[in-house]
Amino acid sequence: MRLRFAPSPTGALHVGGARTALFNWLLARASGGDFVLRIEDTDRDRSRPEHVDAIVNGLAWLGLDWDEGPRFQAAGTDRHRQDALALLEAGRAYRDFTPQPEFARARAEAVAAGRGSVARLPRTLAGRVSAEEGDRRAEAGEPFAVRFKVPDGVTTWEDLVHGAAQFDNAEIEDFVILRSDGSPTYNLAVASDDAEAAITHVVRGDDHLSNTPKQILLYQAWGRPPPSFGHLPLILAPGGARLSKRHGAQSVDAFRAEGVLPHAMVNFLALLGWSPGTDQELFRPDELVSRFSLDRVLKKGAVFDAEKLRWLNGRHMARAKTEDLAAALRAWTATRARPAPATESLGARVPAPAAAGTATAGTALPEASFLRMVAALAPRSRTLAEMAQAAQPYLEPLERWDPKAVRKTWRRDPTWTADLLADVSARLAGAPWREEPLEEALRELARERDVGAGRVFQPVRVALTGASASPGIGDVLMILGRDRSLRRVDAAASWIRSALI
Ligand code: GLU
Repeated sequence: MRLRFAPSPTGALHVGGARTALFNWLLARASGGDFVLRIEDTDRDRSRPEHVDAIVNGLAWLGLDWDEGPRFQAAGTDRHRQDALALLEAGRAYRDFTPQPEFARARAEAVAAGRGSVARLPRTLAGRVSAEEGDRRAEAGEPFAVRFKVPDGVTTWEDLVHGAAQFDNAEIEDFVILRSDGSPTYNLAVASDDAEAAITHVVRGDDHLSNTPKQILLYQAWGRPPPSFGHLPLILAPGGARLSKRHGAQSVDAFRAEGVLPHAMVNFLALLGWSPGTDQELFRPDELVSRFSLDRVLKKGAVFDAEKLRWLNGRHMARAKTEDLAAALRAWTATRARPAPATESLGARVPAPAAAGTATAGTALPEASFLRMVAALAPRSRTLAEMAQAAQPYLEPLERWDPKAVRKTWRRDPTWTADLLADVSARLAGAPWREEPLEEALRELARERDVGAGRVFQPVRVALTGASASPGIGDVLMILGRDRSLRRVDAAASWIRSALI
């Protein structure tokens, strides 16, 4: 199989395009065939090199490697022209000298008079010019468009997704293949390029369905075997409307910026219109290669749900190797500005320098602690952005205690809490710095005070992380290490006392 992805570089790589690329790539990899990347840059006004970069980088990030290309469609203009002129010479196309305004007027009149299909109107108008006159005018340099002479009959194909498909040729207008400025049109260029690249399977979005009969007719007129065609379902917003900008970010880059992992993105894209036929939702790319097939592609629209992507990403993060996830977090953080604090800064600022932890900002944690942090945060984060946010208390000096957490845990009984934290500091200082003895020391304090473990863990948690939710307290203590942990507990105790006065 030879497949291709043929994006127009007029914008970012969107989920729709990425899904098309993925399905073609999966088929190529599963069949041991080739995946060709062709950049359709014939629209000179809208095509931009930065969009080419965005598409190429997006595919590379997703891991969708191509075997040939990128080829650039604009480089084939001469061949496109020759392919169009060959049809003219063979009598399968004709010159059309009709000026555009005149054509538009005639068309409007015919429609108003209820004259049925106007698909052959261009031929009627062009027919007013005899062959000899046409030759003469063309030789004299008068501009003309070349239109394809759509034959009578029906055009059929066995769609790889939809099954038997057919179009009545009477409904297909004699379409332009070469504009009067000599530039080839989309359908001509695509069919010419696919034929030249010996593409065997054209798999693309449903929005191209009406182009397919025209392209098949071109192949037939050239006497070339057409490839097989398959059309992927439209992508819809939750609720069923056609996906549009107002439904939020849809570029692959936007999700990458949010800290979605490439494998999760690929997994998500695969499920946009393909069903594995089982309950399985988590797939690695290699599993997709072996499981994917076009006969399980749905015929109706696929719903795009960004929340599902985040959920899926969380699952991929939870099962990723800690070292890999740590590397991904570091790479992601390096490309981002520091995330803003999650809550408004209203109260409880950690007084400097007492609780400032180590003075060094950034990933100053020892490697083992960093890995422990990543492992502890992985099951609690849906994206790298969330993980980076949750990692702040461990990587940065603690700047504030969440006012809500302070209210709920410390303010219930400030004197009791301040005493507790002083004891916590002393006990932890005397305990071996390992998860079990540390947790046991805290439990013991709870028993001595005749309260549940949570009454001790929560105030300590807020002191250590500034928040009321975090990984297990033993993990937190191990990640922060002895010095920072004790300093934070002490700082909390003395702040509570000072707030009492
Ligand atoms: N360049 C076209 C597009 O971006 C795709 C052409 C094709 O797949 O045939 O929609």
